[in-house]
Amino acid sequence: MNKRIPKSTLSTIRRKIVNQISRLLRLPTIDDLEDQLHDKTEQLEQIYAQQKAIHRVISKIRASLDIETIFQTTTKETCRLLGAERVSVYRFNEDWGGEFVGDFEFAEVGWDELEFKYKNTVWNDCYLKKYQGGRYRNNETLVVKDIYQAGLSQCHIEILEQFHIRAYATAPIFIKQKLWGILAAYQHSKPREWETTAVIFLTQIAVQLGFAVQQAEQLAEVEQTAKDLRAASQQQMILFNLISEIRESLDLDTLFKTTAKEVRKALESDRVGIFRFYPESNYCYGEFVSESVLPIYDSALSIKVNDYCFGEQYAIHYQQGRMQVLTDIYNAGLKDCHIQVLEEFQIKAQIIMPLMMGSKLWGLLCIHQCENSREWTPTEIRFVKQLAAQFSVALEHSHLLAQTRSQTDELAKTLDALQEANLKLERLARIDGLTQIPNRRYFDEFLDQEWRRMAREKQFLSLIMLDVDYFKLYNDVYGHQEGDKCLIKIANTAQGVLKRPADLLARYGGEEFAVILSNTDQRGACEIAAQIQSAIKALGILHPSGKEQIVTISLGVTTQIPSLAQTLHTFIGQADKALYKAKQQGRDCWIHFSMISASPETKDF
Ligand code: GH3
Ligand code: MG
Ligand code: MG
Repeated sequence: MNKRIPKSTLSTIRRKIVNQISRLLRLPTIDDLEDQLHDKTEQLEQIYAQQKAIHRVISKIRASLDIETIFQTTTKETCRLLGAERVSVYRFNEDWGGEFVGDFEFAEVGWDELEFKYKNTVWNDCYLKKYQGGRYRNNETLVVKDIYQAGLSQCHIEILEQFHIRAYATAPIFIKQKLWGILAAYQHSKPREWETTAVIFLTQIAVQLGFAVQQAEQLAEVEQTAKDLRAASQQQMILFNLISEIRESLDLDTLFKTTAKEVRKALESDRVGIFRFYPESNYCYGEFVSESVLPIYDSALSIKVNDYCFGEQYAIHYQQGRMQVLTDIYNAGLKDCHIQVLEEFQIKAQIIMPLMMGSKLWGLLCIHQCENSREWTPTEIRFVKQLAAQFSVALEHSHLLAQTRSQTDELAKTLDALQEANLKLERLARIDGLTQIPNRRYFDEFLDQEWRRMAREKQFLSLIMLDVDYFKLYNDVYGHQEGDKCLIKIANTAQGVLKRPADLLARYGGEEFAVILSNTDQRGACEIAAQIQSAIKALGILHPSGKEQIVTISLGVTTQIPSLAQTLHTFIGQADKALYKAKQQGRDCWIHFSMISASPETKDF
């Protein structure tokens, strides 16, 4: 049996042989290759670990949107990863000076007593200022192993010493195309050889930091805009409500009170007063006509203000619509006389806004801060301006309203007179001038109306037509004037017979009269006719002929429940026919139309 050689021994032998051959051929041996492979693997692992670390840091940076957190995270993580003693973020100002805005210090033994925080420290580097960011502008990274070996200028070394810096590596931070700042890693205790990977890492972080800062700044900007919009919309809401209230309050007292109260509430000020100049005082005299004030401060109401220096100094500006905004009355360069007036009202800061009536300065809207000085924001100032404009409009309105009211009163009086005149005219148009009873026109209208009404109600309507007997003769003998007097007497007498308000006597024409009797049947109508006939007779007016030598009348009566199918004309015709019949019968009598149609003979009632 062959003795078997172990496999491991075989491979060792094989390896030795290959190594020998390789050496002979001047090729790398297996051992060499293995070593190289090992080195490469280690390098790759290291790169991988670093990339992982960078990725982790970048993720962290990106996760935070608040700028402070971004600086903290960046400096802390970078410091750890690089094994540096300090990592800081430096930001350039407009003038290319700058300050440290973020800082993380890795406290090494011996350095923890260093009470030197970079954050918020201003470092104005002459070189950076002069060359507006210097080499960083070209996106260059700076690496200094030891400040004493780098050939730096003495003054530069001195500044670095002030910051206890021995070695540093820095990378620029860009936002878009603009150099924004520097990410810097520092070594305080000893020089440091900065490995290439460390520098690449620093550069990568600086690039990411640029993105993160840009993002955070944009976000902050958007948030600020949103905040401004919210504040502005809130002010607008208050303004809108206030304007509606102001517009609604047409009397000045309410207008003053509402404005003072709402403005003080909206601005959270200590006192708001409406000051009114006395007309003709040349803006030297005036008083507060309304105010809203915190109880702990004096009321300005009822204090008369004589401010000559105001009249001279300020009125002209206010007349031009200019407002005065004082943050602190003692730092506004005011004259002593003015400060005295302000102190009288415990004022420390104020806004004074002119209130105009048309183009004339009417008064002032005074917003006082009494507790302390106050920085007024642009929104507040805009609010006051808009409000004052509205107030002035309301002021003008109420002034116009007062004017209009007196004009309206005048108009109302004229209108009353006009109405009276119209009524007179109307009456005149319906009344007969001689007898003062309704005329023919009114008769026609009234009869038409009653005809319809009775038709609707299915009630009787009666009509009496009456005519003076032999009246021509009367006129001829006694004259026209006597004839007129006679007609007046007849009208008055006939009117005296009618008792119901709905009964209507009218002058039908010449010496003819008509009586409309609603809701009256034949019997009732005949009764009225007879009464009128005898009442006229009873007057005993002498007549040159006549049956009994006195004035008499003849009457024709008709009665009917009106039907809309029938015309009024027929109805009147019936009364006429009856009257004609009465004349035929010898006068001084009445005839009902039904009596004519019933029998050709008519008789006295
Ligand atoms: P009878 O009616 O009885 O048949 O006779 P009569 O004389 O009254 O007849 P007629 O109707 O013809 O005359 C009407 C007269 O009435 C004519 C006119 O002189 C008179 N008369 C009409 N209107 C007025 C008036 O307004 N004033 C006066 N004074 N007379 C008037
Ligand atoms: Mg007649
Ligand atoms: Mg007659």
